[in-house]
Amino acid sequence: MAAYTPMIQQYLTVKADYQDAFLFFRLGDFYEMFFDDAIKASQELEITLTSRQGGTEERIPMCGVPYHAAANYVEQLISKGYKVAICEQVEDPKLTKGMVKREVVQLITPGTVMEGKGLNDKENNYIASITSFDDQTYGFAYNDISTGESRVTLLSKNFDEVLNELAVLSAKEVVVASSFDGELQKKLRERDVLAISFEDNSSIDMNYSHLLKDLNQEKLKTAIARLFNYLYRSQKRSLDHLQPVTTYQIHQYMKIDYYSKRNLELTETIRSKGKKGSLLWLLDETMTAMGGRMLKHWIDRPLINQKEIESRQSIVEVLMSYYFERQELREKLKEVYDLERLAGRVAFGNINARDLVQLKRSLMQVPFLQQILQGMKNDKVNQMAELLDPCEEITDLLEQAIVENPPLSLKEGNMIRDGYNAQLDQYRDASRNGKTWIAQLEREEREKTGIKSLKVGYNRVFGYYIEITRANLHLLAEGQYERKQTLSNAERFITPDLKEKEALILQAEEKCGELEYELFTEIREIVKEQIPRLQALAKTISELDVLQCFAQVSEDRHYVKPQFSMEGRVVVTDGRHPVVEKVLNAQEYVPNDCIMDFDREVLLITGPNMSGKSTYMRQIALIAILAQIGCYVPATEAVLPIFDQVFTRIGAADDLISGQSTFMVEMLEAKNAISNATQNSLILFDEIGRGTSTYDGMALAQAIIEYIHTQIGAKTLFSTHYHELTVLDEELTKLKNIHVSAIEHQGKVVFLHKIKEGPADKSYGIHVAQLAGLPSDLISRANEILTALEQSDTQQAAPKTEAVKVESVQEQPAQLSFFDEPKGVKKQDLSSKEKRVIDKMKELDILDLTPLQAINMLYELQKKL
Ligand code: ADP
Repeated sequence: MAAYTPMIQQYLTVKADYQDAFLFFRLGDFYEMFFDDAIKASQELEITLTSRQGGTEERIPMCGVPYHAAANYVEQLISKGYKVAICEQVEDPKLTKGMVKREVVQLITPGTVMEGKGLNDKENNYIASITSFDDQTYGFAYNDISTGESRVTLLSKNFDEVLNELAVLSAKEVVVASSFDGELQKKLRERDVLAISFEDNSSIDMNYSHLLKDLNQEKLKTAIARLFNYLYRSQKRSLDHLQPVTTYQIHQYMKIDYYSKRNLELTETIRSKGKKGSLLWLLDETMTAMGGRMLKHWIDRPLINQKEIESRQSIVEVLMSYYFERQELREKLKEVYDLERLAGRVAFGNINARDLVQLKRSLMQVPFLQQILQGMKNDKVNQMAELLDPCEEITDLLEQAIVENPPLSLKEGNMIRDGYNAQLDQYRDASRNGKTWIAQLEREEREKTGIKSLKVGYNRVFGYYIEITRANLHLLAEGQYERKQTLSNAERFITPDLKEKEALILQAEEKCGELEYELFTEIREIVKEQIPRLQALAKTISELDVLQCFAQVSEDRHYVKPQFSMEGRVVVTDGRHPVVEKVLNAQEYVPNDCIMDFDREVLLITGPNMSGKSTYMRQIALIAILAQIGCYVPATEAVLPIFDQVFTRIGAADDLISGQSTFMVEMLEAKNAISNATQNSLILFDEIGRGTSTYDGMALAQAIIEYIHTQIGAKTLFSTHYHELTVLDEELTKLKNIHVSAIEHQGKVVFLHKIKEGPADKSYGIHVAQLAGLPSDLISRANEILTALEQSDTQQAAPKTEAVKVESVQEQPAQLSFFDEPKGVKKQDLSSKEKRVIDKMKELDILDLTPLQAINMLYELQKKL
């Protein structure tokens, strides 16, 4: 170390505290990086790697970025999950002898981005912290530093709950103790957490203790303290915008686990991982960034409290009935800037005069918003109007103090209005008078010398000067002005008077600049004191924005207000899948009913591929979610229970090329549903069991259905291509068969996408093949094979519920061990195959058969027994 130059020594000392970050070391106009940081950064940022002498024989690798362009490079590194420590010169080099002191002034990390591209307007940027307690519960806290929001909860020892929360929040960074379990850290990384950071201090600090007063448990305090300690340690600045921490419980909301959220494409699609095509995309008619974020939050956490849901609904209803007022409301909301993030930046100290003008314009919308809401005859809406706080003091102050179009920079002046501050006005007068004097001088000197092109100019080096072109020099008297600078085709001169005025002007301008900056800081401090008011306003505006968005979408897309049933009834008439409907074209979408109640708890859906089974299932889940966030739903009538949880197992297309691991995922999802669902839950299982061999798969599918039917009683939609399962309705009284119909039209199969009662016609696939024009020999061979398969079905894969249970458990103990034995299945006198044969016979229209057909049919039926 001693061999290094003092500068490199200083670098290494600072770097020692920031091992896991890129150290941006300020040298003049550059941030430099050295050693390994330089090598890695040059690759990541595609910038040139150089080297410099550092006192030792070997040159030190180095690369750098200009300080004014640093933001862009920092963003690139952050988006890749790195951290960046910004190390500044904290002394004025002009006033220091020897080494300038340097310190890290901020650690920027994926979870603590305050501005720039890393922040999406309509998304929160969350950082979370996890604290594991001895009793194996987890304290879970999260914060968005750009808005100041923090919440904390306790989760059970099941780490999946933690992962689930992280997924709901899409937290970018997680803070844990350095002793945190390594295996669990690995799991965090698998869930798209960009960075894991360590903070061992979980005791409460004075800086923020007042924000924790609503927390009544030590564990909660500890959990949030770890997060706050990390934030204060890394940000090293005022975090006055942090809002009081609130607690929440995951059971306050409809629980949608990670897989289901993904499968249902609530906030992003599976394929593109983008918002487009998701439920959020469909719904997002919000006019403000804050509203956009709240909408996402609401979709992520649907409510389960009927009163709260109905309270949202009732406002949506009013807003729907006032069309013109709502349009006006939308226009005004459009003018409202991101108050929440603005408040954060006020506290952080990185706000400019333009932001303050935006703030003023936003606040000026509030009285209009109030007026519009007061014009609607409804108590709840009127109450909302009252909640909106126009913060007049701030508006007045900003109106008086800041000009309409201030510059971006805080150092250029021209931010503060004339008349706001007497001293500033004086300086400005002095400067303006001086400038008038100079304009006059130019006129007078032109007249005196007769040189029309004579001009008075200004530059930073020479100040004010008189410029005369070379061609006119002969018109000057000897010694008329003092020569200052020679250019190729002109000479520049000064006079003592000019210099005297210049001194006055420059002095006045410098004072103006200083005073303006001072006044700006003062104003910023006044605004800072009002941050809680701004935050409260932001919250009400966000809610209003989301509710008007619901009204807008519900009206545009002809949604209906859902009613809630306490008896667990589902009556959806002409329901539609909101996103598919939008993408298709309303006319092409075929609406479908869904009826479920105590006697119809499990719907077994059969039908050919691509007929619309999974669309139908998703549609029910999306309708339930829309209802529970307070929105209307795509149907002509909807009665729904309030679901406590939604579980899905819906195969994505890429699952079809399935390997063992996909099957494992399928089983994990099934297990998750089965072990957590209650009779108030909604379960969607699409083609479960297709990832393994036929008998395995069918056995599992049947066992799962039986288990849900008998043990759980959750509302369940189960689609299957195992036609054999349709006989289950004989023994499982609450299971009903439904199918998606298709017709033959002019030699082609047309999917009607219409859900009908009863099982699908099983020979459908071969029928389709026939229609497609495959050779008739091939078709009859397929029929033969089918018959043979069915025959072996009867002998081997006994569909009778108990038989499958016993056989399969013996053969596959590992796979089935997590399902308990189904209880209460009725014994039948006839086997189900026998019953089906009888049913088939009853259905036969004998008069419509040729003798040959009749013989064939008899043969077929006998084979089945
Ligand atoms: P399955 O699950 O039966 O294989 P999907 O639900 O994936 O079928 O539907 C296949 C396609 O059919 C969808 O991509 C959609 O475009 C169309 N579709 C599904 N349901 C409907 C409907 N009710 N109305 C119109 N088109 C539909």
